[in-house]
Amino acid sequence: MTSKSVRMIIGIDDTDSRDGMCTTYLCAFLRDEICSFAKILSEPVLIRLNPTIPFKTRGNASVAMLVQCSEPDVVVEHVTSVVASMSCLEDETTNPGVVFVTDDHFEKARHELVNFFRRAVKDVISIDEAKTIAVNLGLGFRMFKNGRGIIGALSACGAMLDPEWDHTYEYIAYREANVWGTPRIFNEGSIFEADRHTYPDTWDTVDLNNGVVVCVPHSKDPVLYGIRGKDTFSVKKASSYVRSEPVERVCIFRTNQGTDMHLIPVSKVFDIREMHSYILGGVVCSEPCTIRGGHTVFSLEDLNGDRIDCAAFEPTKNFRDIIRKLIPGDRVIVYGSVTERTVNIEKIRIIFLVSKYEAINPLCSGCGKRMKSAGMGQGYRCRKCGTSAKEKEILEVKRNIEKGFYEVPPCARRHLAKQLLRFNDSYVSVFPSR
Ligand code: ATP
Repeated sequence: MTSKSVRMIIGIDDTDSRDGMCTTYLCAFLRDEICSFAKILSEPVLIRLNPTIPFKTRGNASVAMLVQCSEPDVVVEHVTSVVASMSCLEDETTNPGVVFVTDDHFEKARHELVNFFRRAVKDVISIDEAKTIAVNLGLGFRMFKNGRGIIGALSACGAMLDPEWDHTYEYIAYREANVWGTPRIFNEGSIFEADRHTYPDTWDTVDLNNGVVVCVPHSKDPVLYGIRGKDTFSVKKASSYVRSEPVERVCIFRTNQGTDMHLIPVSKVFDIREMHSYILGGVVCSEPCTIRGGHTVFSLEDLNGDRIDCAAFEPTKNFRDIIRKLIPGDRVIVYGSVTERTVNIEKIRIIFLVSKYEAINPLCSGCGKRMKSAGMGQGYRCRKCGTSAKEKEILEVKRNIEKGFYEVPPCARRHLAKQLLRFNDSYVSVFPSR
């Protein structure tokens, strides 16, 4: 009896640790293996989930691929055994989850999985809830250890079934296994060249203002570099300029990176919850101050008079210069995640700049120079002309900052944060970070 060919989505998450592996690598590896007994139907998806989740290893990513096969059981067994053998199971924080959705479930599971995906990007979800959904929908799944990875794996399946999400692409080149954990060898100039030839169709490859390569990670994982961009053509083109150590394999992912999918618009500070990410408008109500560690913080007040701290952290480098120029009374919209009652600013839109005044010594009507203090409580006097005045003059000072959108530099970009160059608004792209 020949079995019928079925389509199957395979979602995987939580396979790596800080000491090695990467779930995207495992996906690329599996795709290259599976293609000998199943057909790969589209590029895999790489989704970034709630960036505030404390269990994440690095960027809270999960992956899914869509295959067509005649023996789904063989694929399930193969994927399960590869995840079991390649995951960093010895690490306490690695708890893999794998979900299999066959096409007889696509329609009945679509609505719930799509919602689950969208919630997992914004919200905090329990392992129990994810497991209950998988059981109720009759999906195949495997949980290793506490199985927390089922949350990301289920979300990635939802992304594969979701026809509507904004997406970008990432071309990831992986290192040969014998060099994992050693310094990466690449020609820096070739990466700047890749950027020069493909920006703005690719982005965050380098950080021109800070003079650094951004697309090459420093961690021990198998990733050599990742080029992000608007389509597969552009990311491939950029990669063709890169000169580096040998590449073991490459994979192009469709991804929700650079989409702001994590942000929830709110109008009140009262509605803000820890471990969620927001777009919040308000009035600057304290002078920005730079605290230990180089982080610049100001307080934002909403229409009800409730306040929340907003911070440009030290890694955001020159972005802090913009924040330091704000003064009480300025109206802004901040974009970022909230932890410890502080918004970690990813972008800011300055809507209104309040006039700034300064009290300075009065002008002498005789010689046109500034008078000097005549002593404590005795006003001001021009020693040359003998003119005097009681009070300082109040003058409006130039603000040295313009209204508009500002973003952190590429070296501090969070995976999900949408680059200003991706906004279809010419007003918006006046102040991109390069
Ligand atoms: P990896 O490369 O392995 O994916 P990572 O930085 O993406 O590394 P994980 O190791 O996957 O992080 O750890 C994140 C864990 O958090 C996963 O188990 C995932 O299922 C879980 N998780 C993801 N999103 C949420 C969420 N919204 N609520 C609760 N848990 C989540």
